[in-house]
Amino acid sequence: MKKIQAILVLVFLCTGIMAQVKSDFPLIDYHVHLKGDLTYEKAVEHSRQTGIKYGIALNCGMGFPTQTDSAALAWLGSMKGSPFMLAMQAEGREWVKLFSPAVIAKFDYVFTDAMTYTDASGKRVRLWIKEEVTVPDKQKFMDDLVGRIGKILSTEPVNIYVNPTFLPECIAGEYDKLWTRERMLKVIEFAVKNHVAIEINNRYRIPSERFIVLAKKHGAKFAFGTNNTDSNMGDLDYCLLMKKRVGLTAKDMLVLKIKQK
Ligand SMILES: [Zn+2]
Repeated sequence: MKKIQAILVLVFLCTGIMAQVKSDFPLIDYHVHLKGDLTYEKAVEHSRQTGIKYGIALNCGMGFPTQTDSAALAWLGSMKGSPFMLAMQAEGREWVKLFSPAVIAKFDYVFTDAMTYTDASGKRVRLWIKEEVTVPDKQKFMDDLVGRIGKILSTEPVNIYVNPTFLPECIAGEYDKLWTRERMLKVIEFAVKNHVAIEINNRYRIPSERFIVLAKKHGAKFAFGTNNTDSNMGDLDYCLLMKKRVGLTAKDMLVLKIKQK
């Protein structure tokens, strides 16, 4: 009888500890867009239903509807009083010149990816658009990509590197082979050195578990992000799977000071 009581006490204590561990883990989706059928009202409702806090991001940069300080400020004004964190998704490499530091600083945080760039011949490339990407030499492509990520993380003032390690469709099937340990380490070191968190992206299910394990070991911080195109959000399933498999805790996650608006 005593044995059973002891076991029950132990189970009770463990459950309590587990609940505590669970509760101090920040359940935040930093990469939500009000796109497709995801309206502001639906986002409020989704967030309330799932208990996931949202950071709503505005795409800012060349070729996007928001290209100026005044357009960025107008959006921030329209979101005043919302329950969301407000983010600037910095697009392309020109964004640093399009927006003033004072306006950039009004967003709760800024993130970017390495999917848009101008190649050696002067052609603007977006890695997710098949027709714009040619990879004549895979190894060179990867080395260039790593170099570009390094430059972005060390020169652009961002909090999160999103859609990390994304590869264009023509070589995506060789992800594990092309993302060698050496290349992964370079990216991780740039992120750690420049205090940029690495997104675990729910839509593309990247980076790989192997990458996340290595990044955690080297002290990188992580941020969950969906990068949705509509209201089909997926509830961070890949992020939470990685959290479980890699053993991510609150101390591995990005911490932001949210600005008063
Ligand atoms: Zn996005």
